[in-house]
Amino acid sequence: MNREYYGKLIFELSQPGRKGYSLPKNEFKGYSLLQLDAMSLRQTPTILPEADELTVVRHYTNMSNNNFGVDTGFYPLGSCTMKYNPKLNEELAALPGFNQHPLTPAKFAQGSLKLYDEVQKTLAEIAGLSRFTLNPYAGAHGELTGLMVIRSYHMSRGDVARTKIIVPDSAHGTNPASAAVCGLQIVEVKSLADGTVDVEALKPLLGPDIAGMMMTNPNTLGLFETRIPEIAKLVHECGGLMYYDGANLNPMLGVCRPGDMGFDVMHINLHKTFSTPHGGGGPGSGPVGVRKGLEQFLPNPQVIKVESSKLKVENLASGEVDYELSCKDESLGYVSFFLGNFAIIVRAYAYLLSLGKENIPMAGKLSVLNANYIKESLRSHYKLPIDTVCKHEFVFDGLREEYGGDHHSPEHVTTLDVAKRLLDYGFHAPTIYFPLLFHEAMMIEPTETESKETLDAFIAVMKRIAEEAKADPELLKSAPHSTPVRRMDDVKAVKEPKFTFKSL
Ligand SMILES: *Cc1c(COP(=O)(O)O)cnc(C)c1O
Repeated sequence: MNREYYGKLIFELSQPGRKGYSLPKNEFKGYSLLQLDAMSLRQTPTILPEADELTVVRHYTNMSNNNFGVDTGFYPLGSCTMKYNPKLNEELAALPGFNQHPLTPAKFAQGSLKLYDEVQKTLAEIAGLSRFTLNPYAGAHGELTGLMVIRSYHMSRGDVARTKIIVPDSAHGTNPASAAVCGLQIVEVKSLADGTVDVEALKPLLGPDIAGMMMTNPNTLGLFETRIPEIAKLVHECGGLMYYDGANLNPMLGVCRPGDMGFDVMHINLHKTFSTPHGGGGPGSGPVGVRKGLEQFLPNPQVIKVESSKLKVENLASGEVDYELSCKDESLGYVSFFLGNFAIIVRAYAYLLSLGKENIPMAGKLSVLNANYIKESLRSHYKLPIDTVCKHEFVFDGLREEYGGDHHSPEHVTTLDVAKRLLDYGFHAPTIYFPLLFHEAMMIEPTETESKETLDAFIAVMKRIAEEAKADPELLKSAPHSTPVRRMDDVKAVKEPKFTFKSL
């Protein structure tokens, strides 16, 4: 493509007087800007680009082609569950009936409330918990909401000394961040060399000041934490509650349930596990579930099915309803406007119904199979620091020395170089330099929606890149070569961001 021309900004393509529209004559005589007082008028004209329709169409179409997404290529970004978002979900979320004003009275929103209640109940069954709220906007927001539930529980018992929360060193960064926002002090527990939580290191941390413990399972290394029942027992005995970060729920779907393992509170990322779009900052959805006895602390409002009502939705005229919004006095309060990002919940509902109870366990199992297939196929070329069966994702610690050179030498080919070179082959890079436990971490999560052919193509490219690293390291050090922009100076981009075309 001719980037010099097509890569121009729309402001650079602008020509004075060029238009892409024609408006009917103004029929409203006698109304002019002059009737507005001077204070309300802008002092300088707005700077808007002037372009014809075809220029605008080409400009934005070419710009969209510069994006990378699940719909354009393989996206093995560990810890993000970049699975395919079926287009059916989009169609259903766009149905006009779901496009209701947020202040619509409950009796005219029975269908939407029913959908909310069914998603809530389905998630509760998948998680082995009692009740979910779908109000939080994202995973991190769900963490904060869940921690607020834990705090409300202790407060309701007059147990005010519980100000600390235990978080493993392998946790996702949002865990300590959410705990801090909730006003809790973070106590870190170390991992063992095998990547799982060190139970012996946990024991001395427990006491009357512990509000609870946050765990991710499988953890951020993609490993199943096998000692959860023992950990849950210890934390419960000291009076704390167990929080489950459900961002990695995908491989567990229909196979095992956090509630059965001893977790009391959890969040789910609908935009990861339940196939709603994500990236670019939202909108997302982070439902929070609780075990029996904690329901009253969930945020307001809750959608409640009126069990006694014999009336069906068709009988609305009588004024009686099947579903209503309920606000509880013991609730931690509001965490979002209305019922969260409702259209995302519709997409998750479509996904749940498309898979059905019979197929949900297949999703989890295939995600595990795909991850292990890549791991075993590439271990000859990349360092595998934890050599065990993984769940939905795993971590390499950079290239093996025979390909990348000695890790300590400045010439060695790094994980960053491999990630940049992957872009030249049309694959999104894995998550790199996370988790922090390894210097050259490269975290790969293929998800279940990828075909064997795609996985094989990725494996072949990863091997080819390893060979290139050995034969021509400079090729990797200067990658990417074929992307719209070459290698960025990450630090400069953060320290001196430029958000405007030129100072206007
Ligand atoms: C993605 C993720 C989160 C945070 O979820 P957001 O929806 O991005 O706020 C928390 N924990 C883990 C393990 C994650 O992968």
